[in-house]
Amino acid sequence: MATKRVAIVGAGVAGLTSIKSCLEENLEPICFERHDKLGGVWNYSRELRPGQGSALYNSVVSNDSKEMMTFSDFPYPKECPPFLSHPMVLRHIRNYAQHFDLEKHIRFNTDVIDVQRNNDGKYWKLQIKDKDDKISTEEFDYVMICTSVYNRPFTPSYPGLENFKGTKIHSNMYREPTEFKEKKVLVVGGRMSGGEIATELARNRAEVYINMRHGVWIVPRICQDGRPFDMTLFIRALIKSPSKLTAEIEKICTGKISDEQCGVQGSEIRSAGRRLTISDDMSECLARGQIKTVGGIKEFQEDDVIFNDGSTLENVDAVIFATGYDFAVPIIDDSWIFDKSGNAEVYKYIFPVRLEDPKRLALINLVHTRGSHWPVAELHARIAARVFAGNIDLPDKETMKKDIDEKIKYVKNKYFRVPAGPNTDDLADMLGVKPSFGHLSLSDPQLAMAFEYGPMVPYWYRLQGPGAWPGARDRIMKAMENTSYAMKGYQSFTEGK
Ligand SMILES: Cc1cc2nc3c(=O)[nH]c(=O)nc-3n(C[C@H](O)[C@H](O)[C@H](O)COP(=O)(O)OP(=O)(O)OC[C@H]3O[C@@H](n4cnc5c(N)ncnc54)[C@H](O)[C@@H]3O)c2cc1C
Repeated sequence: MATKRVAIVGAGVAGLTSIKSCLEENLEPICFERHDKLGGVWNYSRELRPGQGSALYNSVVSNDSKEMMTFSDFPYPKECPPFLSHPMVLRHIRNYAQHFDLEKHIRFNTDVIDVQRNNDGKYWKLQIKDKDDKISTEEFDYVMICTSVYNRPFTPSYPGLENFKGTKIHSNMYREPTEFKEKKVLVVGGRMSGGEIATELARNRAEVYINMRHGVWIVPRICQDGRPFDMTLFIRALIKSPSKLTAEIEKICTGKISDEQCGVQGSEIRSAGRRLTISDDMSECLARGQIKTVGGIKEFQEDDVIFNDGSTLENVDAVIFATGYDFAVPIIDDSWIFDKSGNAEVYKYIFPVRLEDPKRLALINLVHTRGSHWPVAELHARIAARVFAGNIDLPDKETMKKDIDEKIKYVKNKYFRVPAGPNTDDLADMLGVKPSFGHLSLSDPQLAMAFEYGPMVPYWYRLQGPGAWPGARDRIMKAMENTSYAMKGYQSFTEGK
């Protein structure tokens, strides 16, 4: 039988794990990457590359700890610190590609510009542009879209913004604090990037104001007991109980910014677990007055910003919009994903059920996640490859629609703009790799305790079933030890070839 050809668009974490998963299912992956290197967003560059959506600032440190943000069968060396700079992450991604010999399946400098249903021949027809702008067409049986959920920067519109004379940038263009030294800067948006950029600017002698849509709780990367926050919070026994989770977050957070400080009435969302910002320094900067919160923005003038409460911030030099990204997959038709009300009809956030044959195309990691993106990308890729290979069947459309409708209800209730937080255990269940607590209690009680009360490291999904990895148990049991190892005497991971 002829091998099934799979087009993979993008060679970031999602694309690489898709190549590997296809190879494991005896499919033929051909990955197209518009840039000249693999690694996606972790490939730091001073300037935005053509077509690039999200980007890193130079001082970025991972929000997730190294045992939570890794490949499930390829851990970071224990010499890496618990939280990682961008060169370390990129080195790890490259090592992964090298270890599993993935690079030879990638065509660099190749932009996929359109995906269309083919009338005869193979199922899909892709339009591809090479580095000399030459356009060609290729046919495939399946497509995996790995182009990132952070694809199109979102900047809110405000009256008068076009008249503002100072610097206006989206956070994807921020690299260094130097140019903002001794400047008055308004940062709009206080989650992850917003909080971190505001803090970096404040530490580098800018006068910083921050505007957020609502209050947040500030959580440090490392808790007082030396454990990373995510290894403290992402624990099955806690996640099952929103009140216990909230209590735990309250215990570890270093500061809170109330809704009132942001100029909004108490919002309807009560669960703090949905409104965290990860920052080691932000609470201190707020306490020292190095960052000040401001309320809702009414309008911009040439030099000033006017707020809803009537107050004015005068002579503002720069505004940085850390306001996130819109969901966008420009190479396919929006109607394949969204219904008329804008709801994404995508089974498990992977298979668009609006397609005639949903199992022909997969969205990989095109979701907002609670916790790291990496385990979700990997599970998506593993599921999609097994579905393409005919080793997992999708339910009928009606059943998939019912599952989606349930999720849409949940997503709406939680006020997410785009598909949110797929539960990794749910995905693992579909793949047939979810461990059972009952079974573990009988066969390996120590592991069973770790399953319920230990961190949800990705290695749990390599213990059994397709793609099982013999190293998984050991990594699960040593997750904390491997996390703290480097803090006891760090050997450089980025040195060497
Ligand atoms: C500042 C910052 C901090 C972050 N910190 C974390 C963190 O701590 N933990 C975490 O889990 N995640 C973090 N992320 C999110 C990050 O997006 C994920 O970690 C992950 O790398 C996403 O991988 P991806 O493959 O889905 O997307 P990307 O890494 O963006 O890769 C997409 C690739 O697709 C290519 N591409 C796009 N369109 C086309 C096309 N039409 N044709 C050909 N190629 C195309 C792009 O060139 C790119 O290489 C962070 C992101 C930012 C911006």
